[in-house]
Amino acid sequence: GFPVPPSNSQCSQYARLVEIVGQHDLGVGITLGAHQSIGFKGLLLYGSPAQKEKYLPRLATGEWVAAFCLTEPGSGSDAASIRTRATPSPCGTFWTLEGEKIWISNGGLAELFTVFAKTPVKDERSGETKEKISAFLVERGFGGVTHGPPEKKLGIRASNTTSVHFDGVRVPAQNLLGAPGGGFKVAMNILNNGRFGMAAAMAGTIRGLTQAAVSHASNRVQFGAKIHEFGAIQEKLARMALLHYVTESMAFMISANMDRGDPDFQIEAAISKIFGSEAAWAVADECIQVMGGMGFMQEPGVERVLRDLRIFRIFEGTNDILRLFVALQGFQTLGVQLRGVQAALRDPLGNVGLLTGEVTRRLRRKAGLGSGLSLQHLVHPSSRTEPSR
Ligand SMILES: Cc1cc2nc3c(=O)[nH]c(=O)nc-3n(C[C@H](O)[C@H](O)[C@H](O)COP(=O)(O)OP(=O)(O)OC[C@H]3O[C@@H](n4cnc5c(N)ncnc54)[C@H](O)[C@@H]3O)c2cc1C
Repeated sequence: GFPVPPSNSQCSQYARLVEIVGQHDLGVGITLGAHQSIGFKGLLLYGSPAQKEKYLPRLATGEWVAAFCLTEPGSGSDAASIRTRATPSPCGTFWTLEGEKIWISNGGLAELFTVFAKTPVKDERSGETKEKISAFLVERGFGGVTHGPPEKKLGIRASNTTSVHFDGVRVPAQNLLGAPGGGFKVAMNILNNGRFGMAAAMAGTIRGLTQAAVSHASNRVQFGAKIHEFGAIQEKLARMALLHYVTESMAFMISANMDRGDPDFQIEAAISKIFGSEAAWAVADECIQVMGGMGFMQEPGVERVLRDLRIFRIFEGTNDILRLFVALQGFQTLGVQLRGVQAALRDPLGNVGLLTGEVTRRLRRKAGLGSGLSLQHLVHPSSRTEPSR
């Protein structure tokens, strides 16, 4: 059977915590998430023992707040196009960091920033120097780190969002995070590792909205009956409960897999973020509908939740980009197989078996018989079915 994760597991505990916070205030949730889920996640994943020893205690107690600095005026979804630059000193003891980041959550509060910058990296094989992204741990106290005023936003107004400027910041060589030139991977893995938390937060928000809708529907009387007695209202409440169940299940399944040390959770985490943020948006909209005019008023606080929710379809990978990510990751296995076919076409006589297999697969697909690709070998024997023919 499926192993039950131990209750002291890091990711599952974080999911529990974030679900509760997400039920009450998403602005607070983002303050927490920007600190723990992305702000110092790079230190946890890639930090050296010395870096962890130096920074983790103060970050864990909350004495220091962390932030994640990737986005720039000219670089959003296309994260590889950042212009912030770190130049190594001739003596090799420090880097000089120059650039501007925008919309940084906790930008005005943080003492430690995980910053991504272009760096010159020498290719060992070709000897050529190329511009590649590297990640750095930057202390506000290094000097040259400033931030702009808090942004005025549609929602999550409790969360501090600012620009952050790095003007000739001297970053010690030992504050490079991960390998030189490995920063893009660091950034993507931080985001991949934190994404399940978004689904957990959305599950909490959906629970709060469902409770608000149920409470209103079981008190409001129209046409001589409590409105929860009407089938149309019951259907909406049932759908809310369903979306909560699915979102919460996804968040806890992924966090449990991560706690077990399963390295393969990235696609599921992206799916859970897309699904959770869209489900929560739909539930907020329906909650307002169930509450009628009252839902539109500020007092019950549902309009705030609707505003707070909107950003979840945009940041940490827009849902559109994440959809592409899910599709492209899914293609990878096929890509490897097709690479084999491509190589075989160069020497058809030496690869008759492989090519005949591919031709048969394509003919089967054309005839509507399925490609013959199967995941059966991954399924437990007791759950296997005969493939349909
Ligand atoms: C409140 C808030 C807090 C934030 N916090 C942080 C933070 O702490 N740290 C940080 O680094 N960043 C942060 N961000 C930035 C956030 O991650 C970016 O806004 C996000 O990555 C999207 O980038 P963009 O806004 O530049 O949109 P763009 O990349 O310009 O995209 C605009 C639109 O085009 C679509 N699009 C782009 N490329 C494609 C494509 N190839 N195919 C199809 N559609 C495409 C997008 O999906 C989107 O709909 C924050 C943003 C906000 C608003």
